[in-house]
Amino acid sequence: MELILLGPPGAGKGTQSKLLETRYGVAQISTGDMLRAEVKAGTPIGLEAKSIMDAGKLVSDDILIRMIGERIKRPDCAKGFILDGFPRTVPQAEALDKLLHEQAVDLDAVIELKVDEAILVERISGRFSCAKCGAGYHDTFKQPKVKGVCDVCGSTAFTRRPDDKAETVHARLEAYNAQTAPILPYYNARKRLFTVDGMAEMDEVEAQIEEVLRGLGVAAA
Ligand code: ADP
Ligand code: ADP
Ligand code: ZN
Repeated sequence: MELILLGPPGAGKGTQSKLLETRYGVAQISTGDMLRAEVKAGTPIGLEAKSIMDAGKLVSDDILIRMIGERIKRPDCAKGFILDGFPRTVPQAEALDKLLHEQAVDLDAVIELKVDEAILVERISGRFSCAKCGAGYHDTFKQPKVKGVCDVCGSTAFTRRPDDKAETVHARLEAYNAQTAPILPYYNARKRLFTVDGMAEMDEVEAQIEEVLRGLGVAAA
């Protein structure tokens, strides 16, 4: 299965792609996570990306296309992948088409998670994650079952992203509207675009996505 989850910051791409990864047995690829790992490791890409990410702007297409080109060739992608956060521009979407064509694989679907802006701001301001395993949480919508302890790995350390502040969120939403939203018609013209209501409860959103995949004949693992 080759799937893209598309949507503005805070729409639920990370949450849903992690659920689908387990259910469908394919690799979840988050370019945001990959870039944050580069920043943390202090690599040349990380050094270049840090200030751009902190400002809520998009890192260059060249860097992202190279990163994804290498990533989807790794063995864990043999059964397919879910892209979370890529492509984010039309040139990235075109480059992805070329990469998939070279590997003779076909994109199954692009699923758009639609969420109103006021809700996005609320979701982003309450977002935090486990510092050890990366599991995602929310102050209001998804606290760990035992307060202060990660459900997945038991760690008691959590982090918040530096770009999840109110000032930066606005810039990120602008970048989405100006640079990423134009890829919706790109995939619609190719009959690959499906839209789901991202404002529903998490398990309801998951059910809607599975419904789309069932309709396309994609079976769970
Ligand atoms: P969100 O959860 O808000 O959708 P991500 O974790 O996907 O954010 O991305 C965080 C930041 O990483 C983005 O604001 C951008 O600076 C950078 N980034 C991630 N993916 C891409 C991409 N495909 N192209 C350009 N920049 C990207
Ligand atoms: P994205 O990867 O698109 O930026 P996330 O999956 O990180 O979005 O979700 C943003 C925040 O909203 C997280 O704190 C997450 O726990 C929460 N969240 C995700 N989906 C929902 C939902 N359907 N309802 C309420 N909160 C949600
Ligand atoms: Zn954890």
